[in-house]
Amino acid sequence: MNEMNHYDVIIIGSGLGGLLCGYILTKEGFKVCIIEKQRQPGGNLQTFTRSGYKFETGVHYTGALGPNQTLSRYWKYFGLIDELPLQQLDQDCFDRIGFDECEFPLAQGFGNFIEQLLPMFPDARSGLTAYIDKIAEVVSAFPLYNLELPVDHREHHYTTQSAYEFLTKLSQIPIPKSKFPNPKCQIPLSAVLAGNNYLYGGSRVTPLHVASLINHSFISGAYRIIGGSDQIAHILVRAIRMQGGTIITNHEVTAIDNVRQKFSIGTTAGDVYFSTRIISDIHPAATLSMMPAEMVRPAYQKRIDSLDNTAASFILYLSFKPGTFPYLNYNYYHHAAADPWAESGITGSQWPGMFLLSTACHKKEQEFAETATILTYMHYDEVARWKDTVTGKRGAAYLDFKHEKAEKLLRLVSQRFPAINAAISHMDISTPLTYRDYTGIPEGSLYGIQKNYHEPLLTTVMPKTKIPNFYFTGQNTNLHGVLGVTIGAVVTCGEILGLEHLLKKIKNG
Ligand SMILES: Cc1cc2nc3c(=O)[nH]c(=O)nc-3n(C[C@H](O)[C@H](O)[C@H](O)COP(=O)(O)OP(=O)(O)OC[C@H]3O[C@@H](n4cnc5c(N)ncnc54)[C@H](O)[C@@H]3O)c2cc1C
Repeated sequence: MNEMNHYDVIIIGSGLGGLLCGYILTKEGFKVCIIEKQRQPGGNLQTFTRSGYKFETGVHYTGALGPNQTLSRYWKYFGLIDELPLQQLDQDCFDRIGFDECEFPLAQGFGNFIEQLLPMFPDARSGLTAYIDKIAEVVSAFPLYNLELPVDHREHHYTTQSAYEFLTKLSQIPIPKSKFPNPKCQIPLSAVLAGNNYLYGGSRVTPLHVASLINHSFISGAYRIIGGSDQIAHILVRAIRMQGGTIITNHEVTAIDNVRQKFSIGTTAGDVYFSTRIISDIHPAATLSMMPAEMVRPAYQKRIDSLDNTAASFILYLSFKPGTFPYLNYNYYHHAAADPWAESGITGSQWPGMFLLSTACHKKEQEFAETATILTYMHYDEVARWKDTVTGKRGAAYLDFKHEKAEKLLRLVSQRFPAINAAISHMDISTPLTYRDYTGIPEGSLYGIQKNYHEPLLTTVMPKTKIPNFYFTGQNTNLHGVLGVTIGAVVTCGEILGLEHLLKKIKNG
């Protein structure tokens, strides 16, 4: 065996989860190798450049990044918080929720959140207070969201409840007619509170804890990373290498085997690497498909293969002529109808049922946007006929499909932003196939495995598997999103190092 190719830990995939695990374990003295199939490390942290403009692919804003808030406390340990330039979104409106001509602000700060919505819903103080109290109650059942060691299983109480049912029961209070005389504006408060549920691929099976942890983090403090989220990857890659870690890019892992308690990893380049432990930062179904049948218990294989994934997306990446489109220091969520929970399933003439428009932040005090990303749902079935093609070679019919859909989406966007078409200087488009091929996620799913409150245990992938020394990390374990993946990486490494020991180090910076 070539000692050069032998590691204590091999991490498959360099998404945020893989990089954070690499950081923790190299800092703890492990010999670590991260193997990544793309040229650029980072997975959804990657950006791409067109006509001199940089675009985000999978991180548009993050929550809980204010001083002493959860993510900043974790990221301080990773050396990220002192290096990343941040732009806080508008305090009084980090997400603007639009239904036809009526718009609602979701504000930062728990009291402020209530105060900013009260003018539209004067009878809803108790409903809004109940909402804020509930998400705080849910978060308190997840001690890791406060950097504390989990001691009981109070969280189960919330993983078995439905976010949709909670919001629907909480408040159907409509806006008084005097506020918006337009009958189309009689939106219930519950729809407004679910208005940014694209953040978790809002489905009627989404558990309460998923919606609560995510919304709580953004209401605590919502931030954009000035200049792009690829900086997170650059900082972590530099630190991992300085701590003695190896990162191999442009090598796709294709085979995982275990002989006499040693793992072997084969890649498309024909190389073989060996390790005592493996952490997979890629989708569990894709991971198991690389193992020989005898390595995986049939029941586990069956369970993982049966899991649904969250919806996929169709995205426009726009660059603007200088000085033509304003920089919006908030995200705009538009809904064509008043049911945000049905949108991920919309196809045919009703598509697109919603869009999220997010302008990228390139500097402080930005007046005009250089770029914007417009995201909506798209069913994988819509592009399944091109499933055997690869990027750049999908053929003319696929290009026609993409442009037809882009025009349709832009028609909806221009109803709210009439100046947008004239402002565009360049447009790129991605479909579920783009994400499938770029991060390896099945069917281009936005956030990986769909957690389901009917079957919380079945749809939660534990970081420690029944295969000795084989672990999962990333968005399919704890929770998707940069906060969820950060805590997930700590839980995964906690399985190796001891969670109490690791949390102590993180708390001490
Ligand atoms: C469109 C979109 C918008 C989003 N917006 C936000 C947002 O605004 N805020 C937020 O907090 N979160 C957002 N998210 C979610 C967030 O980006 C993800 O949850 C998170 O980045 C996932 O990290 P990960 O570690 O699980 O892995 P991933 O980012 O999925 O990375 C997996 C890595 O593994 C590599 N890989 C796959 N197969 C192999 C193989 N066989 N061999 C080697 N390498 C392999 C991939 O190339 C990739 O680099 C968004 C996601 C999407 C898709």
